[in-house]
Amino acid sequence: MAYIKHGYPKLIVDLGKLRHNIDYVKDLCAKEGVEIAGVIKGCTGLVPCAREYEKAGVKFIASSRLEQLAALKEEGFQTPLLMVRIPMLSEAEDIVKYCDYSLNSELVVLEELNRQAGLQGKIHNVILMADCGDLREGWWDKDEMADVALAVENELANLHLTGVGFNVGCYGSIVATPEKINELITIAENIESKIGRKLEVVSGGATSSFMRVLDGNLPERVDMLRIGEAILLAYDLPVLYGYDLSEMHQDIFTLQAEVIEVKDKPSHPVGERGFDAFGHQIEYVDRGIRRRALVALGKVDYGDPDDLLPRMEGIEILGASSDHTILDIQDLVDAGGDLKVGDIIEFDLKYSTMVYLTNSDNIEKVYI
Ligand SMILES: *Cc1c(COP(=O)(O)O)cnc(C)c1O
Repeated sequence: MAYIKHGYPKLIVDLGKLRHNIDYVKDLCAKEGVEIAGVIKGCTGLVPCAREYEKAGVKFIASSRLEQLAALKEEGFQTPLLMVRIPMLSEAEDIVKYCDYSLNSELVVLEELNRQAGLQGKIHNVILMADCGDLREGWWDKDEMADVALAVENELANLHLTGVGFNVGCYGSIVATPEKINELITIAENIESKIGRKLEVVSGGATSSFMRVLDGNLPERVDMLRIGEAILLAYDLPVLYGYDLSEMHQDIFTLQAEVIEVKDKPSHPVGERGFDAFGHQIEYVDRGIRRRALVALGKVDYGDPDDLLPRMEGIEILGASSDHTILDIQDLVDAGGDLKVGDIIEFDLKYSTMVYLTNSDNIEKVYI
């Protein structure tokens, strides 16, 4: 019989705080005439989280992973679903089956989507992606992009050309300046003149473009942003770019882990040194004897320990192996505190640790 695990590590998800963040971003965008696609891939599309987006009435729910969107369709979600990673040719059938919209950058995939939509008796909505310098997905050659737009419009009868979009700030670290966004609008207008009608959607980017809403300088033609991080964590814009998001919650997710050992130990490893558990050679700083605590979770659960943020003052993450995380708690001890075996300590998450932890079956999820 399968062992049923109880307790820790545990991820607490505050759905009320999530809902607040969704409403906050949605309302700010609405004032600029912008609809949002709530991007749920950052929390692995957890259905209770996705339901908050549906209740908030976002225009689209989006993910990069088809299985997350398929689960929502099967749950009976009514909000149109948008696939934001360029579809695999091999998943065209299911894209049409489960998603109402997809972002695209390859004619051969569009042709297959068209064929599958025909077989399923559906019209599938597509947004064509331009690459304006971030160098991930999208057409670099904008003439070719316009030709494909014309082909979708006139030849692929089971597709509807909903609009164009772009993405910046993901690979090339390019900032969504008003000038950059205007490049996309120029592309949209060029395509509109070719097909002889207005496009319904100009999808102007992700969280990095939300900065333009906060600054009040989002070019007017943009009517959709695809927002993930700014809602789920609200971390990057204040911490990396200095925006005031104090009215948003940065602690929707709380990781709880249990202390399994507390001891005073040297801070420098003792003996001949080779490689760590992951084949790396690491430099260790000798700070003498310090108190450390081990907690029962590791890289398997969250990836990089540097992307965990202990909530309690005086705790520093020293490192981790697959199933152990090592904390220096000497500063806590010096300040009059301490930890003991069995204590539960809490962490805030960054984007990568949020993705891993929500994706892990080893982590119990509790919704409050
Ligand atoms: C992940 C993703 C988003 C959302 O990005 P955030 O930075 O989390 O807002 C938007 N668009 C595309 C194409 C994506 O892949």
